[in-house]
Amino acid sequence: SIHSRANWSSDSEESDSSEAECLYRVVLLGEHGVGKSSLANIFAGIQEKDAHNHIEEDTYEKTLTVDGEETTLIVMDTWETEKQEEDEKWVQDYCMQVGNAYVIVYSITDRSSFESASELRIQLRRIRQAEDIPIILVGNKSDLVRCREVAVEEGRACAVVFDCKFIETSASLHHNVSELFEGIVRQIRLRRDSKET
Ligand code: GDP
Ligand code: MG
Repeated sequence: SIHSRANWSSDSEESDSSEAECLYRVVLLGEHGVGKSSLANIFAGIQEKDAHNHIEEDTYEKTLTVDGEETTLIVMDTWETEKQEEDEKWVQDYCMQVGNAYVIVYSITDRSSFESASELRIQLRRIRQAEDIPIILVGNKSDLVRCREVAVEEGRACAVVFDCKFIETSASLHHNVSELFEGIVRQIRLRRDSKET
C-alpha cells in the first residue's frame, strides 16, 4: 500500500523521504457566510515554514505533521461559486463526489445554517452511500457568545445522530482551527489503518 511506510519508519527515516505519499481532498460545505473561506485561509497559513500552495482558485494544499507523520491535505473551498446557476449545480455535484473527507460548517449564530448542515449531511450520505467518509460537523463563530443560536449540546447531539465528529471553532480567534484539520487527518488515518489490517 502507498500508505504503509509511515507506520513503521522512525522520524529520521521520514525526513529522508521528500515526497508526500498521502494526499487527501477535504471539501468544505455549508451555507454562505458561515466562515468556510476564513477557515480555509487559516489552514493555508497555519505553518509558516510550509509556504502555502495556492494550486488553483479556492483550493489550498498543505502538508501537516500530525502525531509525527506527514499527511497532505488539499482543502477545497469551492462549494460556493459566483458563476451561473447551472454551473453551480455542476460544481456542487463535483464537490460531493471528489472529497476524501468533508467539513460541514454552520455558524453558531445562525440556526438556519445549522439546519442546512443537517441537510448537507443527508445529501452526502445519499450520494456516497457505501463509503465510510470522514465527516466533521463544525460550529464556527464560537467567539460570538452573545449571538449564539445553537447550543454546543445541539451540535454534539447532531453529530451523534449523523455519526460524525464535532468541533466548535472561531476563525476570528484562530480557536480550534488547527485542531479541526488535525482531527480530519486522524479520522482519515483511522479508516486507512482499519482497511490495512
Ligand atoms: P463563507 O461564505 O462560508 O466563506 O464565510 P466567510 O469566511 O467569507 O465569512 C463570512 C463572514 O463571517 C466574514 O465577515 C468573516 O469575517 C466572518 N467570520 C468568519 N468566521 C468567523 C468567526 O469565527 N467569528 C466571527 N466573529 N466572524 C467570523
Ligand atoms: Mg467563501
